[in-house]
Amino acid sequence: MTIKTNEIDRVLDTFRAGSRFLITSHVSPDGDAVGSLLGIAHLLRGLGKTDITCVLEDDVPRIYTWLPGADKIVKQDAVTKTFDTSVLIDAHSADRSGKVAPLLPKANTFVVIDHHLVEKADGDLKWVDPTYAAAGEMVYDLYVKSGVPLTREAAECIYTAQTTDTGSFRYSNTNPRSHRIAAGLMETGINIRAITERVIDTMSRGKYNLLQRVLGRIQFGANATVAYADIYAKDLAETGALGEDTDGLINYLRNIEGVRVAMIFREAKDGKTKVSFRTQAELNAADICRAFGGGGHAVAAGATIDAPIDEAREQVLAHLRNHSGLDV
Ligand code: 5GP
Ligand code: MN
Repeated sequence: MTIKTNEIDRVLDTFRAGSRFLITSHVSPDGDAVGSLLGIAHLLRGLGKTDITCVLEDDVPRIYTWLPGADKIVKQDAVTKTFDTSVLIDAHSADRSGKVAPLLPKANTFVVIDHHLVEKADGDLKWVDPTYAAAGEMVYDLYVKSGVPLTREAAECIYTAQTTDTGSFRYSNTNPRSHRIAAGLMETGINIRAITERVIDTMSRGKYNLLQRVLGRIQFGANATVAYADIYAKDLAETGALGEDTDGLINYLRNIEGVRVAMIFREAKDGKTKVSFRTQAELNAADICRAFGGGGHAVAAGATIDAPIDEAREQVLAHLRNHSGLDV
């Protein structure tokens, strides 16, 4: 596994040269988005920087609000100053940051750090490497290369990024380097059991109620090799679940014996539908989602389709019929 040393050095040079920083990540932030964003903020502080603004369009999901620095993440409306350096992490196109997007190119240098399968990335300086299991792992390598001592606070953010994006080191993206990084993180004294309890092993009552509904609604196709389910806005309202509680539900579909493709169609704002995709290796989820304007990884990807749920579902099933030969 070759690490793109050049890019790491250029990112660090840019960080060292900058003085006013904006850091953001993608909409519907997950553990890697919040953890890697905060990891960059801790690194910059370690480099002696003091003017750092962390921004996300959406609220930090409740299971990540305890992360050191999460309380300082603001919404784009609260941002009035200018920046010399902007950083987008765990995403490669400005528009993935939602309403934060217009702020990114305003900086002198717009840095993109991402680990998704990418055809073309935004940014003046891009470090994109899909061999990393989590963007948080990229932050770890920035720490190592910079010589900045890794604090326990930063390690908690990076470990959260890793454990969420690797499904607790079980997904196919997990590699020997992931475990070496985890070892380095543990050496700072972080309590991995406490972190796991907070971000992996806790289910809100709302999520439990929603899960119960969704499990009863799974449909199967192509000899039960395809499983999919819908989530409507009213499901959240009626169960008390939050948007963030839909995270991870798709694993229950994917884990059913014989299932090779799992999908969740979720009613989104403005008559749109968010589709989440999980596949086995023979079918590239990112390619399928790119056909709908989205993207992601080979086995986990997503897209937002500008159509109501019934129509969006039919479009995706038709695409699968036509491009993968699946009888769905
Ligand atoms: P999830 O299904 O959990 O929302 O997302 C799975 C993966 O696909 C994540 O890595 C996520 O960043 C990516 N992804 C989800 N939705 C989109 C999207 O609309 N556009 C792009 N480019 N990637 C997405
Ligand atoms: Mn990620």
